[in-house]
Amino acid sequence: MTVATTCPYCGVGCGVLAHTNIDGSVHVEGDTQHHANHGRLCVKGSALGETVDLRGRLLHPMLRGPDGTLRRANWNDALDRVAEGFRRVIDQHGPDAVAFYVSGQLLTEDYYVVNKLAKGYIGTANIDTNSRLCMSSAVAGHKRAFGEDVVPGCYEDLEQAELIVLVGSNTAWCHPIVYQRIAKAKESSAPPRIVVIDPRHTATCESADLHLPVKPGTDVWLFNGLLAFLFQHGAMDARFVEAHTEGFTQALAAAQADAGDPAEVARICGVQLADLLNFYRWFARCERTITLFSQGVNQSSSGTDKVNSIINCHLLTGRIGKPGMGPFSLTGQPNAMGGREVGGLANMLAAHMELENPVHRQIVQSFWQSPRIAERPGLKAVDLFDAIGDGKVKALWIMATNPVVSLPDADRVKRALSKCEWVVSSDIVAQTDTNAYAHALLPALGWGEKDGTVTNSERRISRQRVFMPAPEDARADWRIVCDVAQRLGFAAGFQFDDVHAVFDEHARLTAYRNHEAQEGDAPAVRRVLNLEGLATLDRRAYDALKPIQWPVAMSGESSMRLFANGGFSHENGRARFVATPARLPVNATDREYPLVLNTGRVRDQWHTMTRTGKAPRLTGHIPEPFVDMHPHDALRCGVREGELARVQSRWGGMVARVKHSGGILAGNVFVPIHWNDQFASDARVGSLVNPVVDPVSGEPEFKHTPVNVEPF
Ligand code: SF4
Repeated sequence: MTVATTCPYCGVGCGVLAHTNIDGSVHVEGDTQHHANHGRLCVKGSALGETVDLRGRLLHPMLRGPDGTLRRANWNDALDRVAEGFRRVIDQHGPDAVAFYVSGQLLTEDYYVVNKLAKGYIGTANIDTNSRLCMSSAVAGHKRAFGEDVVPGCYEDLEQAELIVLVGSNTAWCHPIVYQRIAKAKESSAPPRIVVIDPRHTATCESADLHLPVKPGTDVWLFNGLLAFLFQHGAMDARFVEAHTEGFTQALAAAQADAGDPAEVARICGVQLADLLNFYRWFARCERTITLFSQGVNQSSSGTDKVNSIINCHLLTGRIGKPGMGPFSLTGQPNAMGGREVGGLANMLAAHMELENPVHRQIVQSFWQSPRIAERPGLKAVDLFDAIGDGKVKALWIMATNPVVSLPDADRVKRALSKCEWVVSSDIVAQTDTNAYAHALLPALGWGEKDGTVTNSERRISRQRVFMPAPEDARADWRIVCDVAQRLGFAAGFQFDDVHAVFDEHARLTAYRNHEAQEGDAPAVRRVLNLEGLATLDRRAYDALKPIQWPVAMSGESSMRLFANGGFSHENGRARFVATPARLPVNATDREYPLVLNTGRVRDQWHTMTRTGKAPRLTGHIPEPFVDMHPHDALRCGVREGELARVQSRWGGMVARVKHSGGILAGNVFVPIHWNDQFASDARVGSLVNPVVDPVSGEPEFKHTPVNVEPF
């Protein structure tokens, strides 16, 4: 049997053909019909068939008894207990004493249902997601600039660009198929210039014409300097700025104040002036310029300003939504984008509507016919776990994520969970660092077993389809949520017969009263996200749905690019320049902690390795945690390549093997995010990371924690 589905790893969202063999084994190949990858798969995607066995799976509901041990339970008992736990806390302490912490691994339908339960029925906006850790600065930057969280371009722009700028993104390892498309374009008869802006010299630099190894945290100076340079050198598209934007004068003044002198910018950013000017000149001259950015931009205490400083340069030049040009946020997870569409963040409502907007709240509540609607934004990820530690949030449902490994100051997360009255975890894995703190474990379906949709970085909705039977007691996440909702007394809103019914409701909500007030001076709702053309699909058409980019009009027509002629989602239809005064990371190095810790992915692993850790050919690439550092720093710290060392910050410590990749600037170290106590002891880099967040997006500063390295 062969089924067309979508890769469950990164936000590139590659199409996969999964072949199930007669012995139950699975092998995969790239789907040549899918626009994201045209048949290509990276090494992680190619190894998917090796990760679908049942080793380590959570296959039955488990309840923790008074003696602290987990015991198998039947679904009825487990669901009753989960609902009772939540009901008890809500009745005693109110709806904001409960919370949900969900994941970009969930399908859109799962996300939709749990968000509906929290915001429309329980009445709390305390539902946040691990996408907060990777994408929320891009979300906030899009909303500030465009009025809505929208990526204006598409992957085809990679093949049409004259200049590709990659900022804070080791694309070759983290979004490999995007990188392959760029590398292929580089071999064409009209190759684009490629500029990589990254403190590290990574595999992505292999295709670069120019690498700017900026000092960590200085990106806003770089792009403010670019804005000032573009204006000074006549690269402004005055017609576009005049017709479709506002706030240009203030943004330019802020940029000139910080970064009017390129020599000063080069000094602050730690790059050669000649290189900086080359970049600025190339950007000024190349009409078809695309700027891709990722976690190196987002995971910062000034992440939202970094995003807007990039978007400002594209607005100034009118390079947005046209072939080969635009700012382009590379999504980390397979469905971070879909989660955002259904409001799976503590400060959003479904269908890109805003919690703080009373009209939007009224629209969503009237569509849901729900008894209530959350009235104020909930707690974002880091604050949420602080509130659990402080005893303010007493019941937590974690879905498809492992915060004890992945959140900053991860030991504090452990302490918080150990004090929480009621912790539920639905997962496909039985033993994780997080599940050790759960009172109830609920077995979820994994890739190949579950059915629904995901949205990738270019707004393309693709189906994940079933090609394996549900193992033992495992159930779809959306169904588990509905089962609990009904036990909480909310039967009316959660009577979905199947996953198609959930998608249908989501699609109808995106169209509900969308653009209805365009005639007036101040439209109540104006959303680009509109799945009107998908709201008419019957079950068969949903099953057969081909990958499609939103918005999808009633006619079924979709849009590859947006905003070339304005039409932004702010009430006046204009995009906003945002003044972005530059500022340094919150915690500076000092004598005790003289090195800057940067964290990120390695090529062949995914998140906390619960799937990729099963495939020997993936674990063989890099078999253990490492700390990559400059040889001079190693000498100063008294550690040697190949030996174990202790990496220590004010917040925690870990052990890793010293490595010299040759790509690290003196004064910096890099540690991958994947390893955890299931794979190596004392190996969670999250325990070191400072819990500082961007004040707008709430995204943690994973790229800048002062640390020390010492012999182990
Ligand atoms: Fe999967 Fe991303 Fe690799 Fe594509 S690039 S195969 S989506 S991990």
